[in-house]
Amino acid sequence: MSDIRKERLVIVGSGPAAWTAAVYAARAELAPLVYEGSFSRTMIPGGQLMFTTDIENYPGFPEGITGQKMMMDFKAQAERFGTRVITENIVRVDFSGRPFRLWSGADEEVEADAVILATGANARWIGLPNEERLAQSGGGVSACAVCDGALPFFRDRRIAVVGGGDSAMEDALYMTKFASEVVVIHRRDELRASKIMQQRALDDEKIRIAWNTVVTDVLGDDEITGLKLRDTVTGEERELEVGGLFVAIGHTPNTAFLGDQVALKENGYVETPHSWRTATSVPGVFAAGDVMDDYYRQAVTAAGTGCMAALEAERWLAHGDDG
Ligand code: NAP
Repeated sequence: MSDIRKERLVIVGSGPAAWTAAVYAARAELAPLVYEGSFSRTMIPGGQLMFTTDIENYPGFPEGITGQKMMMDFKAQAERFGTRVITENIVRVDFSGRPFRLWSGADEEVEADAVILATGANARWIGLPNEERLAQSGGGVSACAVCDGALPFFRDRRIAVVGGGDSAMEDALYMTKFASEVVVIHRRDELRASKIMQQRALDDEKIRIAWNTVVTDVLGDDEITGLKLRDTVTGEERELEVGGLFVAIGHTPNTAFLGDQVALKENGYVETPHSWRTATSVPGVFAAGDVMDDYYRQAVTAAGTGCMAALEAERWLAHGDDG
């Protein structure tokens, strides 16, 4: 007698894509099982929105909503229609036969007739040894201003934010609440962020931008004391005294657990070969949200693709049609 869990539809992930897929699948009476992921230093169930302050661009919330509240509400809505949730990561899959097989972090196996991958993407680091050491020890280096920025550690100090995208602008603006000064360190002479976020940052008296600059080392033993910087144009090196570093240089899709079981694009995102479809290279396996979207990466587009994946999974389970 096997005690392997057997499911019709397993959804892996817990951001807007996963919960929207779950709402649609649950209402279609597919009784989805969601593996929402477990807690670790760099990951919490709920995905990237758990690290965002106010979401002002999700339609239906004229006053904005916090990322955490939105994700709690998404989950509650999915559960209301019978979605079941396990707070574990999926660490390994075998999609070579049917039913598909997946293994949780607790080494429990689950079989599924269809799978929706919605594991999102994770914050990227510069890759300096001292950056990693001080991030792990809580020494003032972080990839999440919204999670860590309010700590007393960062109050009234000069804080550096690395990156030139919306995340960097958002982190810099957030840190102006606590820091004496925020220095945005960007490797080019032009920001990638949306015009509105650029303008907000450029207009803020506490924010200064170090253009054409990269961080070459993070200084400090137990706590960060400064950065070594290099001018990318002149090659000149200098040091900047800082009491905190927030790294906001983009994300890497969470696909390691997939091994070679599903085709990935060159940049590591899950490939969905048909335009306007969430079907992957494996019939019966669908992908939604940031794990397959390296272009839009918005909560509302993730939710949209979650809906698409659930509808495609439902159709596939009924007719074996994924085209
Ligand atoms: P992003 O748009 O990819 O920007 C990453 C930034 O980091 C770029 O400026 C990039 O420089 C820089 N960078 C990348 N690797 C680097 C490295 N190794 N060293 C130094 N700098 C490096 O990522 P994001 O800011 O996280 O935004 C991702 C998506 O989420 C975007 O679509 C964005 O619009 C969205 N988002 C929206 C909001 C909002 O609307 N409030 C907030 C956050 C994010 P280059 O410019 O030179 O490539």
